[in-house]
Amino acid sequence: MDKAKTEFLSIASHQLRTPLTAIKGYVSMILDGDYGKLPPKFSEPMRDVFESAERLIGLVNDLLDVSRIASGRLELHLQPVDISKLTANIIAEIKPKAEGKRLAFFVQDKMPVDAPIKADEEKLRQVIINLIDNAIKYTNQGSVTVLFEKDGPNMKFTVADTGLGIAREELEQLFHRFMRTKEAKLVETEGTGLGLYVAKTIIEAMAGRIWVESEGLGHGSRFIFELPFAPSGFKEELINVASRQDYIAN
Ligand code: ADP
Repeated sequence: MDKAKTEFLSIASHQLRTPLTAIKGYVSMILDGDYGKLPPKFSEPMRDVFESAERLIGLVNDLLDVSRIASGRLELHLQPVDISKLTANIIAEIKPKAEGKRLAFFVQDKMPVDAPIKADEEKLRQVIINLIDNAIKYTNQGSVTVLFEKDGPNMKFTVADTGLGIAREELEQLFHRFMRTKEAKLVETEGTGLGLYVAKTIIEAMAGRIWVESEGLGHGSRFIFELPFAPSGFKEELINVASRQDYIAN
């Protein structure tokens, strides 16, 4: 039964991704004026279509990852990754969302130069985007801070916000599949509770760890992960993510 479900999920997700990517691509071209100048009253609804398509693609990608993890088919391609460059890139893309909510956005890059970490760049990008997206989504006032630094043999990456926060009794469960807190469901009806599960599985498969700290509801949250630096001379490594990290929400 579980295998059939996983296969269904995988097929359904693949079938959804192609048309969604086409929608996003064409809308992006329309917004860029490739089909002529867009009448002003069209640009807001078009931007909404674009954002909805992006959200759906994110959801489909999470579902695909979950089904790949369950069937042991998620592969990671580890390479030396320049975390400063990757993060700067992500922030350029994501900062307008924070500005749209009038949140202050701080970045503190405390990494030494030339100290690549060992990671799958695309998957790491997905994890970082998810953490920053969440920080913006669950914060209505104050700030979001992204900090990364060297901490012994590891790179330590923190995304801190001054938002909703998390009750002590829910901290433990947060990385379980489909887990969403009561309060999060109230402020943000959309959400799957899959992002953090995928993030934990990926970070642990890359020999790192991820956790959350919060002083409680209304006191903001800090999501932190660590990943090892790449040893000198390291080129690449292909690993298969085992499904032993398969946390099931209860
Ligand atoms: P989603 O955001 O789609 O619900 P995630 O797996 O990314 O799924 O997050 C799981 C849950 O963790 C959220 O529903 C929310 O309850 C909680 N959470 C995640 N990030 C934050 C945050 N920055 N502040 C407060 N709660 C958070």
